[in-house]
Amino acid sequence: MFVLFGPGGAGKGTVAARLVAEDPVLWLSRSWTTRKRRPGEPADAYVFVDRPTFEAQVDARGFFEWAEFLGNLYGTPIPQPEPGREVLLEIDLQGAQQVRRVRPDAILILLKPPSADEQAARLRGRGDDEAHIAERLRAGAQEERIGLLIADAVVVNHEVAQATADVAGIVERYRSAARGGGDALRPTVGDAGGASHPTPDDVPEGS
Ligand code: 5GP
Repeated sequence: MFVLFGPGGAGKGTVAARLVAEDPVLWLSRSWTTRKRRPGEPADAYVFVDRPTFEAQVDARGFFEWAEFLGNLYGTPIPQPEPGREVLLEIDLQGAQQVRRVRPDAILILLKPPSADEQAARLRGRGDDEAHIAERLRAGAQEERIGLLIADAVVVNHEVAQATADVAGIVERYRSAARGGGDALRPTVGDAGGASHPTPDDVPEGS
């Protein structure tokens, strides 16, 4: 299982969607959210539901992981990939922490924006208001700080094609290691450098 997390994605989809378009083995989960669909956002970016529907799914133990992020609920339905496929998730830090607990073998890849200014520009570009952008930057700084402690690798999303290629390279190195490939996991640029896996529980709600 591969997990993209952190503030560098600027919205669901771009790096993850490109990755699955290029790599037919990867199986991208579609999350549920109680957030309203943004103008221009594809209808299949999420399964958009109301809070009672989401909570009923929580009660039915239908989520692999779920979290509240800036007042909205987001969750990964229990993955059901076809045989031979590898699951890819694109989630927030709290979700990544939950995945680390239940699947210690999952590969967690922290996606960072190049800078706070660039992240703000991207959020502005998709129509977010200034109050939300400020909240999102605060949450993003926290996600980066704690994310570095649990990440197996870090990718800076300067540009989507480059970030996708970097993630694809990391995926390939972990696959090669799983096949018993010699030096596949020697740290390289873009790698967190063999970080151990503490799982801090001190992330405030909504971060
Ligand atoms: P956005 O509202 O910009 O689409 O997403 C807000 C945050 O929620 C992003 O960090 C995104 O990765 C995260 N997110 C999206 N889907 C899920 C999910 O299923 N679970 C969790 N924990 N976070 C998610």
